Amino acid sequence: MTIPFLDLKSQYHELHAEIDEAFKRVMESGVYILGDECRAFEAEYAKYCGTKYCVGVGNGLEALHLALIACGIGPGDEVIVPSNTYIATWLAVSHTGARVVPIEPNPKTYNIDPGLIEAAISQRTKAILAVHLYGQPADMERISEIAERHALWLIEDAAQAHGARVNGRRVGSFGDVAAFSFYPTKNLGAFGDAGAITTDNLDIAERVRVLRNYGSREKYQNEVMGFNSRLDELQAAFLRVRLKRLDEWNARRTRAALYYLRFLENTQDLVLPYTPQWAEPVWHQFVVLHPRRDDLQKSLARAGITTLIHYPIPPHLSVAYSGYDFEGRKFSIAERLAKTALSLPISPHISPEDQDAVISAIRESLQ
Ligand SMILES: *Cc1c(COP(=O)(O)O)cnc(C)c1O
Repeated sequence: MTIPFLDLKSQYHELHAEIDEAFKRVMESGVYILGDECRAFEAEYAKYCGTKYCVGVGNGLEALHLALIACGIGPGDEVIVPSNTYIATWLAVSHTGARVVPIEPNPKTYNIDPGLIEAAISQRTKAILAVHLYGQPADMERISEIAERHALWLIEDAAQAHGARVNGRRVGSFGDVAAFSFYPTKNLGAFGDAGAITTDNLDIAERVRVLRNYGSREKYQNEVMGFNSRLDELQAAFLRVRLKRLDEWNARRTRAALYYLRFLENTQDLVLPYTPQWAEPVWHQFVVLHPRRDDLQKSLARAGITTLIHYPIPPHLSVAYSGYDFEGRKFSIAERLAKTALSLPISPHISPEDQDAVISAIRESLQ
């Protein structure tokens, strides 16, 4: 028996009639870039997130990058980021020429610790970039309050948290602007690369709209030095199909997470995910901690169970940032998470039988 980490093919199989119909519709339309599908998806996704605007772009990294540029962030500026995140969060800041100022996570939620943010704010700080890691929303009410008090931009990296809520309000609607990725493995995934920003700020929406298309609103009228980062029609059409199932599929992930939480409780030295009472996560990952994580991962692999590590190397220890001056800051919580975190298989299509197999293999391994 083998249990994959995530079976993307079963996502297609469940939707194949609608996906195939969307494919035909786009192919027959003769419009493949910036057409009706993209506009329709933008309207539908803005409505879903509870924002006024959504602008589709090429991928999640570019959604972040263009959002930062639209806020006027560039060389000489500092942006507060979590130390525990996927490296894309940092790269987007670095590509603007601004400096990243990493903040350690809360040891229980693994998301940026709001209590540590204010001490890191300097004259040069322009924005807080909060990440909703593993589908667990960051503490947006406290973070919004800090951003407001210091007149900083608040940007959300919601690439792992489509549909997650804080006190009933969806992520993507808290920041001045939020960035989403629709990479195929995300909760709302395309069948290729795709991304978007959401915002209530018309000015930011317009700037991203111009930046994604060579800096032009009208063909051959280039107002700024823009990029080519457009959401193509096929991906937009596929995303419209997937969006209709997002809440149901997130509910299935939640059911699977509650099952793990219930049957892995009180397992030797295994730390289970913690959810604050104000948070409604969407379980992009189900991350456990164990002091002998590598042994646990190997023994699960012997039982045919694929697990992953999110992330084995925190951004500050990556070669890409080896020349970076962190001004003596230490990121020991992020480093400890990199050594102890293990992501168990979770998806809308995981069966209780597969989960039982994961649970027994963990119990046997840790006995
Ligand atoms: C996936 C991801 C991104 C980047 O998205 P891409 O579409 O792969 O460019 C950014 N931030 C986080 C937290 C992510 O998980």
